Order: sequence, then structure tokens, then C-alpha cells
Amino acid sequence: MATEDVSHDLSSLLSSEERDFLIRNNGDQVPVSGLVGKNILLYFSAQWCPPCRAFLPKLIEAYHTIKAKGSAFEVIFISSDRDQSTFDEFYSEMPWLALPFGDGMKQILDKKFKIEGIPTAVAIGPSGRTITKEARMHLTAYGADAFPFTEEHLKKLEEEIEKKAKGWPEKVKHELHSEHELIRTKRSSYNCDGCGESGYSWSFYCKECDFDLHPKCALKEDEDTGTEKGKEGFICDGDVCRKA
Ligand SMILES: [Zn+2]
Ligand SMILES: [Zn+2]
Repeated sequence: MATEDVSHDLSSLLSSEERDFLIRNNGDQVPVSGLVGKNILLYFSAQWCPPCRAFLPKLIEAYHTIKAKGSAFEVIFISSDRDQSTFDEFYSEMPWLALPFGDGMKQILDKKFKIEGIPTAVAIGPSGRTITKEARMHLTAYGADAFPFTEEHLKKLEEEIEKKAKGWPEKVKHELHSEHELIRTKRSSYNCDGCGESGYSWSFYCKECDFDLHPKCALKEDEDTGTEKGKEGFICDGDVCRKA
């Protein structure tokens, strides 16, 4: 997994000679020094990226849940938007902090964390250590329960899922795939043919047709979301937008 044992001094990571603050979407400036010792999620994202837009409501929900538990936690939006107005529009939906649009630190962070596609969420622990670059995957799989994203914690969650999976039926018939039964299958990652979103680990799967349903989608109804084309210069596979 992409866990690195690299520690960062948050102040030098997030501020520059000209700027020692981050912003809120009402324009308020928040000193970077206030973030030291917290769990930080660097959220690399942009409005033109459909998977970013699809992930945002989940991240917002998880954010509020994590904060409501009193956890020392903050998300910082690192924007790949193309201009100030789309940044403003996208950021207006977010309840957390952001690096100002066009800030030179963005390129440095991209390079430091080897950001190859968005959305990417990098979790940094209270000591400044990078915990994981795969926080988005863990949030998709577990929601707010993924916090604080440490290997040990995720292992515990995984064990709980395994216990739960034993209670699921081995096969289901589902109206979205009436031609075959769907078999409870351990997969790596997949795209759910029910809700269109990504999934990890367990799926109700038809191997013959390569048809997947999240357990939650197979065992009960769920709302539908669509996918769109990505921005020029990027390839969007419905799950992530990568530089072409
Ligand atoms: Zn689904
Ligand atoms: Zn089938």
C-alpha cells in the first residue's frame, strides 16, 4: 500500500514565505499553525472532474460525522480548477479549509505526494506523518468509520466486514440482473452496476457478465448516479480522472 514513513512539518508543507494561512469559503483566513497536531486530509480535487463531484457529498458527510465525534480533524482542498470562478463555485460547497486558488504550493504538494489522478485524499497524522494516499478508497469503503485511516484501524474494520459478510446470503437474484444469480464474491475493486460508484472488497458478482453490485445495493435498493465525460487532456474512467 502507499504508506510512507515520511514526516512533514505542517507549517512548511502548507504555508509559504508570503502566506501563513489557509482560507475558508467565506474569505476568512485561518493560520496554518492552528492545524499542527491534528489529523489532516489533503483533498486534491476539481469541479470539472465528475468522480470528484461524485465523491464530494460522501466526503462532506464523513467530515461532519468525524468532527461531531470531537476529533481533531481538518480537510484541506487542494484545487486543480482552471480558474478562480470555478474554484469559488466548487469550494462554496465545502465546509473545510482550502489552499488559495493559484497558490504556488499546489505544484509542490502534487510533486511531493506524487498525485497522478483526482480525486485523491492524502491522510496526514497528528505527528505530520503521511498515513495513506488511499484515504478516498477507505472513505468510499467505510465512510467516516475509516478515520483515522491507520493500518491498524483499517485492519479492525476489515475484520468486522468479514464477520458481517458471513451473514450475507451466498447468492441473490436481483432485478437489475435477472438473467443470472449474483454470487457473494471477494473482489479487489469494481464499479457497481447498480449505483455506478466504485466498490472494494465484497461484491455480489456475475462472473459471466462481469456484473457487480455493492452488498448494500444487492441486498436493498439504492439511488442512482450517472457519470459524465471528463475534461480535455484527462481520461475519466468513471472512478478517477487522470492526466492523459
Ligand atoms: Zn452500488
Ligand atoms: Zn450474468
